[in-house]
Amino acid sequence: MLETEKIDTGKKNVFRFALKLVSRFLIFLAVLGLIGWLVLTKMESMLQGEIEEFVADQAEITAQIAGERFEGELIQLNRYGKQLEAGNMTPENIIAAINLSETGVYSGIVDVSGNLVAGAGLPDTIKTQIKRAMSGDSFVDYHENIGLVMMTPIIYNGNVRFVVYKVYNDRILKEKYFHLENKISKNIYICDTKLNKIIIPYTNFNEDDIFYDKHKQLPLGYDEIMSKLSTNHSAAMHSNSIDEDYVVFASEIQGNFIIIGYSDWNYSAIGGIFSVHRIVVWVFFLLIVLFSIFVLYSFTAELKVAESDELREAKDDADRANQAKSEFLANMSHEIRTPLNAVLGMDEMILREVPIDSPIRTYAWNIKSAGETLLSLINDILDFSKIESGKMEIVETTYYLSSVLNDIFNMMRFKAEQKGLDFKIEVDESVPDVLYGDEVRIRQVIVNILNNSVKYTQKGSVTFKVTWQRMTDGSAMMSFSSIDTGIGIKEEDLPKLFSKFQRLDLQKNRTVEGTGLGLSITIKLVKMMSGELKVESVYGQGSTFTILLPQKVEKYEAIGDFRARAEAFIQQQKDYHESFIAPDAEILVVDDSDMNLFVVENLLKKTKIHVTRSMSGKDCLEKMTENHYDVIFLDHMMPEMDGIETLERSKTLENSKNIDTPIIALTANAISGVKEMFLSKGFNDYLSKPVDSKALERMLQKYLPVDKVIATDETDEELMQPISQEVNTQSSKEETAPTVQSTDKTSTEEVSTQDDAAASATSSAVPNIDVELGMNYCGGMEEMYKEFIKMFCEKREETKQKINDAFNNENWKDYTTFVHALKSGSLSVGGKVLSEQAKALEMAGHAYLDNNDDSQLDYIRENHSKAMELYDAFVDEAKERGLL
Ligand code: ADP
Repeated sequence: MLETEKIDTGKKNVFRFALKLVSRFLIFLAVLGLIGWLVLTKMESMLQGEIEEFVADQAEITAQIAGERFEGELIQLNRYGKQLEAGNMTPENIIAAINLSETGVYSGIVDVSGNLVAGAGLPDTIKTQIKRAMSGDSFVDYHENIGLVMMTPIIYNGNVRFVVYKVYNDRILKEKYFHLENKISKNIYICDTKLNKIIIPYTNFNEDDIFYDKHKQLPLGYDEIMSKLSTNHSAAMHSNSIDEDYVVFASEIQGNFIIIGYSDWNYSAIGGIFSVHRIVVWVFFLLIVLFSIFVLYSFTAELKVAESDELREAKDDADRANQAKSEFLANMSHEIRTPLNAVLGMDEMILREVPIDSPIRTYAWNIKSAGETLLSLINDILDFSKIESGKMEIVETTYYLSSVLNDIFNMMRFKAEQKGLDFKIEVDESVPDVLYGDEVRIRQVIVNILNNSVKYTQKGSVTFKVTWQRMTDGSAMMSFSSIDTGIGIKEEDLPKLFSKFQRLDLQKNRTVEGTGLGLSITIKLVKMMSGELKVESVYGQGSTFTILLPQKVEKYEAIGDFRARAEAFIQQQKDYHESFIAPDAEILVVDDSDMNLFVVENLLKKTKIHVTRSMSGKDCLEKMTENHYDVIFLDHMMPEMDGIETLERSKTLENSKNIDTPIIALTANAISGVKEMFLSKGFNDYLSKPVDSKALERMLQKYLPVDKVIATDETDEELMQPISQEVNTQSSKEETAPTVQSTDKTSTEEVSTQDDAAASATSSAVPNIDVELGMNYCGGMEEMYKEFIKMFCEKREETKQKINDAFNNENWKDYTTFVHALKSGSLSVGGKVLSEQAKALEMAGHAYLDNNDDSQLDYIRENHSKAMELYDAFVDEAKERGLL
């Protein structure tokens, strides 16, 4: 997916996520609102119930008071009766007393026959009531057009003798008697439920009052409260249909009488309760607000998380893509490096074999120079991808600074002088010589800035300056400067200087070779070593690049006069490179690839050393019991018994004739740290493959017995050649080995490679042998190519047998090792198609071994025979084309 597409998808995802969150928030809010509404409704109905109950209680108390008043009236009448009985008062006295006490009221006394004894008589309509009193009842009653009548019998000697009554007419009832009030209401009616009539209104009653239903001529809400009263003694109700501002209450007094009143809804007692209600509503509202804020906050937080998740994912994707790119670059560079090294190795042989005056020698030199430039370029890419993929390590050891400076001096002096530049070196005499750090990387970064100075200076000089400062902890802050009188860098270009693939001032630099990687590698390495890179430059006048590096001082030993030491070193170098022969020396080279054996043997031809070949660990051990060797070179990666196991077994080998023989590891995986690994396993040293002739000779000079090495006077013409390139190549070789194996590749890469291999394998249009490619690997030497191809074809049965056995025994480890060997073996003879098929099988093997991915085995099972057939096809084609 393209980055822009990824970003668009990312945006869409964030939008979708935001939409989801917003809808979730709205649903939450709706649910919360619903719950709030339910709670409030429930609370209101509970509060209303409470209030109605409270008001009904008040109503009951008031009704009781009213009842007691009526009762009081009857008791008073009774008392008058008692006075009459006792003969203390006459009926006239009693009537006078009653009428006097209450204005507008009239009263009377009748005897048992119904005759009026005193006072005012009663209308006939209520004569029946007198009978009721005669039977002993004392009561209050209301009569239409008469008013409120209170009646009680007067009893002598157990018999009713008289009935005394008292009457309040409607007018005076309305004006002054029996008006009720309580603490929750001033508007209380007394009604007769039998007549459905107001008999006593409240004080200042007016027919226009809001509590009066003019139409029905009854108290407001009479019917509603009456229906409630039918099941209770007292009741109250708040209803918007009656009046939302008042609570209607009613309570029975006695007989048919009830009270009906109205209490203000905002009355403090009720309001008190309602203030709680309001608080609750407020609290609830606040909770909703808080909750909304919280949800909004978490919404934005989640959104941010989602965004940062998206960003992280995008970053991870980008990192993965970058990693894949770095791995691809590393793989590719490694793949290119291997055949290139073979070319350089073969070229080295040509240079050794071909007479000095031969024109072929010039061609060979050109190959060497172009090849080495290409190699250093590839090494840069490899370094860069290693740094990018985090696989670059800083390996610290004790080293001699003087040795590093010597190498650099020799290399740079040669380069600078070739360009007509003056190369100066200024080393502070007090600089400590024995330091602890990553010598290889230090060398690399210094060479990089010096190389640039030489590259970007047309005339004048390049000065290499080394100073130092003692730090408080005893370590040294080393300063390496490259000062040139070159083209300089424009001020505005300085910030771009360390960006990868960035080349500046292209107009001027068009003819200068470069990738724009050197400085970005340099700064990264310097930083990895906790150092700093500083640049000062004046455009048109020159630049100064300074590397500041903290280094531990292993032993304080001043470097002294470096010039003198440099001279001595050059002399030493000369000696070092002086040719030697060692006809009495016996060495054993163990490698499962006879191509490698062939190379080593050829490289050592001139030294006359006797080389014994061995192709397996087992054979090596046998040979070690048979002969004594002065040095043994032992390959690391071999099927069955690898180099390390062989070495371990050799230590306990009975009858070994090589107990003290130096054993040197041969490895194609010369990654940093590998030297320590080999030394810890008991090897004396290691040599990286493809084998470099000088490194091989140096190794032999170091480990062969001194008495067997005979220096020759032959001038070493190569000493005149840029040893810089040698240093460059050698150091890079040591440092930049394949760190990324095919198994590290992503599965998609694997699949595509497998598919490609399968496709090319089935395509009949593609010839099995690319002679040009094979010839290239053999440095263009036809004879050698023929020999190589012959060896390869002769080994067909043996190789196929091994691979088939491993396949049939499902020994995938060996299988992978064998197809790996087939991959490189076939490639070096031009068997590109076969090599690709073998590579695909090797990758599948690695993927299975590393990840237990069974699908890889399916691939191997499907394609194994194809590879075997391709081998046959290769041999057939070689025969047909007369290559054998
Ligand atoms: P390159 O392979 O192009 O030399 P580098 O990363 O080493 O890449 O340098 C980046 C750019 O910095 C160069 O292309 C050049 O323009 C500029 N540069 C580096 N060193 C110098 C120098 N000593 N003088 C002038 N320009 C320099």
